[in-house]
Amino acid sequence: MLHTIKNILSNNCPNCHKGKVFKDKSFFFSIGFPKMNENCSHCNNKFEKEPGYFFGSMFVSYALGVAEAIITYVIAHQFFEENFDLRMIPIIAGVILLLSSFNLRLSRMIWIYMFKDYSN
Ligand SMILES: [Zn+2]
Repeated sequence: MLHTIKNILSNNCPNCHKGKVFKDKSFFFSIGFPKMNENCSHCNNKFEKEPGYFFGSMFVSYALGVAEAIITYVIAHQFFEENFDLRMIPIIAGVILLLSSFNLRLSRMIWIYMFKDYSN
């Protein structure tokens, strides 16, 4: 399990753990839409198994966004007197926006690892 998390955060191919899934230099922050490699440079594993393969990863991305919003709220909450201050909304929105490319990469990585072939 820990091994899988490490591979996901290292952007490693689910098949050989040597090639990279995303082309971007940094897994965590980058400007613009993340670019994926079509095939693994090491084992030639195709990442997008079929068209629309990553459609479901949007739900993973959504769940990540909700979790981050809650964490941001809990942290931001310490700095405000009111239980819910309207000024928290731009803070939460800003954090989600900042993390959006990370969320997209992370959700696709989780998706790939969720449906990878564990038989080999
Ligand atoms: Zn590979």
